[in-house]
Amino acid sequence: MNLLYEGKAKKVYDTGDEGQVRMEFKDSATAFNGQKRGEIAEKGIVNAALSARFFTWLSQHGISTHFIEQIDPRNLRVERLNMIGLEVVVRNSVAGSLHQRTGLPEGTALDVPILEFYYKNDALGDPLLNDDHIQLLALASPDLVARLRQQALRVNQVLRPFLLRCDLVLVDFKLEFGWNPAGDLVLGDEISPDTCRLWDSVSGERMDKDRFRRDLGGVEEAYQEVYRRVMQ
Ligand code: ADP
Ligand code: UDP
Repeated sequence: MNLLYEGKAKKVYDTGDEGQVRMEFKDSATAFNGQKRGEIAEKGIVNAALSARFFTWLSQHGISTHFIEQIDPRNLRVERLNMIGLEVVVRNSVAGSLHQRTGLPEGTALDVPILEFYYKNDALGDPLLNDDHIQLLALASPDLVARLRQQALRVNQVLRPFLLRCDLVLVDFKLEFGWNPAGDLVLGDEISPDTCRLWDSVSGERMDKDRFRRDLGGVEEAYQEVYRRVMQ
């Protein structure tokens, strides 16, 4: 099968089926725009299964996603999307770059979720964009920006309570959207501890890629624990 693209966390293959691709989830992990590299054992298996679970749950709640089926432990069949060159970040509490940008303490709850758009551009280090920058770069019309905001907030509304039932606080997460062959706007990529901050609702312990980013130890264990809680 034709490898179409190899990214930092996944490989995308042509399946020969029109309008579909296979996404293979790798164990390799990167942080700080690829400056830090490593392996998280079994991460690909955990992230493929969790993404499949979250996408299924979202589509059961009226949100269009690219997910078709899980082929095997590391591979998902998905609709082939023409990706929009933006990362959409939703935040429920202060963490990471929002803490660095504002000085607000990590963990500060936000009364209303905050949305941010980042330019999917490794060479530039995925910079934060405002609405004018998005227009300047012609990445999305104002109408599309409004639809992305609305979709991302809906994802938040559906995933937050789901995760809380697993004793996980959804602190923030990143989404990517694209156009499917039918011309519909669809949620793509993955939803996993690589792309979400998940804090244990009792202990506050970090259960996501921050353990790798910040050398906190127990990386594999945290991914396995999220898997166990979500898949049970
Ligand atoms: P990166 O490109 O940041 O290194 P990944 O390793 O996760 O990230 O690579 C996966 C790539 O596949 C990303 O560029 C993502 O935008 C793209 N992608 C995600 N879902 C789809 C899809 N359904 N169809 C085509 N491309 C997709
Ligand atoms: N995120 C991601 N991919 C990126 C950048 C961020 O999945 O390229 C996720 C990250 O895991 C977190 C959220 O988006 O859940 C917000 O990340 P932040 O802006 O705080 O950046 P970071 O701390 O990752 O540099």
